Amino acid sequence: MQDKIFETVDTYIDGLFASEDVILESIRDRARAAGLPEIEVSAGQGKFLYLMAKLTGATRMLEVGTLGGYSTVWMARALPEGGQMTTLELDAAHAAFARETFRLAALEGVCHMIEGPALQSLQVLEGPFDLVFLDANKDQYPDYLEEAARLLAPGGLFMADNVIRKGAVIDPPVDDVMARGAAEFNRRLSSYPQFESIVLQQVGRKGHDGLAVARKRA
Ligand code: SAM
Repeated sequence: MQDKIFETVDTYIDGLFASEDVILESIRDRARAAGLPEIEVSAGQGKFLYLMAKLTGATRMLEVGTLGGYSTVWMARALPEGGQMTTLELDAAHAAFARETFRLAALEGVCHMIEGPALQSLQVLEGPFDLVFLDANKDQYPDYLEEAARLLAPGGLFMADNVIRKGAVIDPPVDDVMARGAAEFNRRLSSYPQFESIVLQQVGRKGHDGLAVARKRA
């Protein structure tokens, strides 16, 4: 019953504040037809990422975990003229799908895909980035945190999705590597000298989870 009301309110909020245009809608439709997992951010979460990017005036953004490019498009649309978005994806089919998304969204010159294991890509990337968004395999979030700290500009915005996992992070089961990774990430981020941070608990059509939001100290 509780989940139902959270879902209904999510739909209400998205209807008012985060309506999708044909491009965003078509990413979901194409993704379902292509059999991609239904794990992209919701429209409301996409709008939130877009607003965060606008508010920080980000010109160079980095995303870890592209899938079909849905969140990438939301964020890239917040970039000013000449801004750049780099996005990292392991799965070749997801990467190919996302490249097509960027073409259809007329963002080919803005969104750059790096295919391969994210940690490897991060280790050779050069900053500074104004915004880093983590949305990939949670077991490596602690490693991604170290790379984000290196790559972000002073004052840069760092966000990481799915860090509550229905509360499993409080006492993660031994066999839940994702919850264990997210829990270790939260533990490190909370006392990371270079960041001031918080986690926002989230409920809605994607269930119960959380988004970490942090600012790299200037
Ligand atoms: N950000 C996307 C959105 O909202 O539209 C959703 C990303 S989905 C939750 C996570 C993605 O991370 C998947 O496409 C998966 O293939 C990718 N991924 C998983 N492990 C990875 C790794 N080690 N390196 C890079 N990408 C990875």
